[in-house]
Amino acid sequence: MSDNVEKYIKRNVNKGINSRIAQKFVDAGLEVMRSCINCGTCTGGCPSGRRTAYRTRSAIRRALTGDESVLSDIDIWLCSTCYYCYERCPRNIPVTDMIIKLRNIAVEEGYILDPHFSLANDIFYVTGHGVPANGEANKKWQDLRESYGLPPLPPTVHTHPEAVKEVQELLKSVGFTELMENAAKLKGERAKKEEKKEEVK
Ligand code: SF4
Ligand code: SF4
Repeated sequence: MSDNVEKYIKRNVNKGINSRIAQKFVDAGLEVMRSCINCGTCTGGCPSGRRTAYRTRSAIRRALTGDESVLSDIDIWLCSTCYYCYERCPRNIPVTDMIIKLRNIAVEEGYILDPHFSLANDIFYVTGHGVPANGEANKKWQDLRESYGLPPLPPTVHTHPEAVKEVQELLKSVGFTELMENAAKLKGERAKKEEKKEEVK
């Protein structure tokens, strides 16, 4: 894409689209989201959308127009971050980054799925791994690797358990633990509200 076209696209954002969620994108330096023309190219090529109800264009549209239900929609977690849409958007919008940002906003507001919460807290924080492939429970993967003549997995916190503390310090310093605590709190509050609503019915 030529520089001129890029400049045109950057200038031609629709500032009239300004939902609370859209403003968060602007604050994160992603104002270009407001230049979406709703063409559906992102949805058309999305491999996840071919197999699920997830529609990229719709998720972007809902975020732009302030449809808050998009934050609790499980579909936004179906994006595989393959970057296919990112490469093809005619408005040069970093669509995949938008979806990742949308997920970040969702988690900040307590919309985190139980398996993700458990992975983040009970596995990643505790072991220093998202997928602790070196653990005893995963020995079969190590054996499989060796059977293909591949070198053993590189040293990790499994072989250097003292490094877990460093990982945890790092996670604290970037606000990960605070984010998780807040998400758990908001999720719990929301669940209680729902329970009360059910009792009233
Ligand atoms: S491809 Fe780009 S412009 Fe078209 S709907 Fe998707 S995000 Fe919007
Ligand atoms: S990055 Fe996500 S939204 Fe984009 S094409 Fe891939 S799966 Fe679909």
